[in-house]
Amino acid sequence: MQFKKLNEIELQDETSWCDAVFLTLDIDWACDEVLLDSIELIEKAGVRATFFATHATPLLSRIAENPLFELGLHPNFNELLRGTPQVGGLSAAQVVNRLASIVPGAKSFRSHSLSWGDVISQAIRSVGITNVSNHLIPEQSGIVLKPYADWYGLVHAPYFYQDSACFYFHENTPIRDLAFREGLKIFDFHPMHIYLNSERQERYEGLRDFVRKPDVLLKNRYEGEGARNSLLRLMELG
Ligand SMILES: [Zn+2]
Repeated sequence: MQFKKLNEIELQDETSWCDAVFLTLDIDWACDEVLLDSIELIEKAGVRATFFATHATPLLSRIAENPLFELGLHPNFNELLRGTPQVGGLSAAQVVNRLASIVPGAKSFRSHSLSWGDVISQAIRSVGITNVSNHLIPEQSGIVLKPYADWYGLVHAPYFYQDSACFYFHENTPIRDLAFREGLKIFDFHPMHIYLNSERQERYEGLRDFVRKPDVLLKNRYEGEGARNSLLRLMELG
């Protein structure tokens, strides 16, 4: 099975996506030890991946320097929507511009919590984003996905698997079966859930005070079937 990066999807060329698997990760402010664990797992597997960056860390240059990896933007608009005091910027454009200055040249985009709208599309176009994977259409729907362009010319690539969405569905298709589904196959993981091998959201919620204490997190890694096992199983196909 061929793994590809999101920025390799071309609308005019169906072969750019139809037989491939796309591995994406939303970094979500993971501390360096947790992020490094994901990077090393994927480097070891030797597959291509797209990392959606949320913040500056020296590890971004390690990702940027690996030709198998792509860095995209994963800005957080939630504070704007909630009207809470701002750390990331006072408008969608400011939030996007700040992150784009940390990840210059990024082509791919997914917002934290999947916030979306015209204001956001205009902001991301102005910093050179071309590929958007911002809509989760769960695999449970059975809908065969394909990329499409919007009226701005942005290429949208909806995704069908998210590690944390699995926690809420009663039935989840085995990940290896998903890799052979018809249509566009984009998988989304989070370094924190990979690190914890999470099997339910409460595992992470109970450890929120320890997100910068990798030794505590490691002691709480789930030993059954969780996100880390699923990622490893998927990457064995690469
Ligand atoms: Zn996120």
